[in-house]
Formats: sequence, structure tokens, C-alpha cells
Amino acid sequence: MTSTPGEYLLTLDDVDVVYGGSILALRGVGLKVPASGIVALLGANGAGKTTVLRSISGLLGWHRGRVTRGRVTYDGADITGTAGSALVSRGIAQVMEGRRIFGDLTVEENLRMGAFTRHDGQEAKRTMASVLEEFPILRERFTQRAGYLSGGQQQMLAIGRAMMAKPRLLLLDEPSLGLAPIIVKQIRDVIRRIADSGVAVMLVEQNADMALSLADYGYILEGGRVALEGSGPALKEDPTIRELYLGIVGAQDAEMAAASGEAWP
Ligand code: ATP
Repeated sequence: MTSTPGEYLLTLDDVDVVYGGSILALRGVGLKVPASGIVALLGANGAGKTTVLRSISGLLGWHRGRVTRGRVTYDGADITGTAGSALVSRGIAQVMEGRRIFGDLTVEENLRMGAFTRHDGQEAKRTMASVLEEFPILRERFTQRAGYLSGGQQQMLAIGRAMMAKPRLLLLDEPSLGLAPIIVKQIRDVIRRIADSGVAVMLVEQNADMALSLADYGYILEGGRVALEGSGPALKEDPTIRELYLGIVGAQDAEMAAASGEAWP
């Protein structure tokens, strides 16, 4: 990415995050998200992906975490340490890992909760109409309890609820987790359309194949640091990424194994 001042909607500069006063979860993390497009954040369990999202969405405090160094800038303003509710009205929405819909409430009530910071009734109704157009299943189940939806439908509801806030920046934490491949493909198409509508998307995924097939740009986190970054296609071709995250081993390795008589793969 080439940078000129003001080009990015969100930046993290040299950010450290500490949990409980002693656990250093992020170390000098720097990343940039342009005003539109998809940025992927990849890494193994515990690498710090969710912590990056929490440091952007203002949810660190809930987890006894704090940015102890560096700065988070959104839309030109320093938002380091700003509480989550204030950020929703400024256009940052997060879909948390595990979906976290309200199972006892109806689909409609869940969607309405996504618009809780808005005071533009007519406009909110239009957003509801466009969310239901994007997710016809939510229209079908509008008055039913959300807890009765399947895992994939709950993920659609979680994304739809976030879209009710009319975000400029959508943070998605592992939207493909635990879903069947056909549903993952549907979610991927939805994310693409959301990005094409002009929303900046930050996508945290363990499914590197899905994330890198969508991402314009990606960051790989290791041990709380950015270990590698590059365009989506470049990362997909990177031999280390292919081996560690995509499970693809180079032809050379296969030949060596064949020569040594090992079974392959
Ligand atoms: P996963 O893919 O498993 O969700 P992740 O890459 O999202 O992992 P984080 O959840 O951000 O990683 O965790 C980064 C580090 O911070 C880990 O060492 C984790 O144990 C630690 N951590 C996360 N949340 C807390 C917390 N509330 N209190 C203390 N340590 C935490």
C-alpha cells in the first residue's frame, strides 16, 4: 500500500496492549485500513488478532486490557482507549467471534438492537430493508426467536445487526468459524458485497484461504507482532504462508519425499 496522509480510515501506530497489568498481548503493532476494501488479519491461536479488534472497537476495557503504548487513529481522530459505545455512533461496528446474537429475542429485535445508536427513524428503516434484501432468510424468520436459527443463519444475523449501525468500518472476528463450506462461501460473498458498497472491512480469520481470496491487503500476526504483510494475492503466493496457513507444500518438498521413498502427502 502506498500512503498519503488522510488516505486511511484507520491506523494503528506502534501499539502495545497489556491485559491484567502484566500480559503483553500486542507489541508495536502497526497497520492501516483504507476507507474501502478488505484488510485481513491472520495468525495462529493466541497471536493477538482479537486483541487488535478490541483495541479498535473500544472493548479492551471489558477484558482488563489497555493500550499502553502507541496510538489508534480513526477518521483523523485519536480514539486510543475510547469506549465502544461512542465508537459505534462514529461508524465502527464489530461482529464478535461466536456470533453472540440474543437467542431469546426475535430476529427483528436483534436487528433493531444494531441500530440503537441511531436517531434517524426513516433512514434506519431503509437500512433494515436493505439488510433484509441482502439476507432473505432473516425476512423469512423475522418474528422467530433468533436462538432457533442455524449457525450460518445466526452469523448472517450477526452481520446484519452490525450493518444496522450503518458502519464505515466493519470488524469481523472469524465469521467462518464452525460453518460448512457452502455457508462459508455465502458469507464470503456477503462480505465482498458489503465491501463493494463502500464499507471498509477488517477480517480476522483462521481460514486463510477464504480471507486471502477476499483481501486486498493482509497482515500476519505472530506472538503479538506483525510478522508479514502484503497484498492478498502476494500473501497467497508466499511460500511460508502457503505452507503454514494454507496447508500447501511446495512441489520441491514433494519431489524430495518421493525420492526418499516417503509416502506423499
Ligand atoms: P484466537 O485465534 O485463539 O482467538 P487471537 O489471535 O485472537 O487468538 P487473542 O485472543 O488476541 O489472540 O490473544 C492474544 C494473547 O492475549 C493470548 O496470549 C491470550 O492468552 C491473551 N489474552 C487475550 N485475552 C485476554 C484476557 N482477557 N486476559 C488475559 N490475557 C488475554
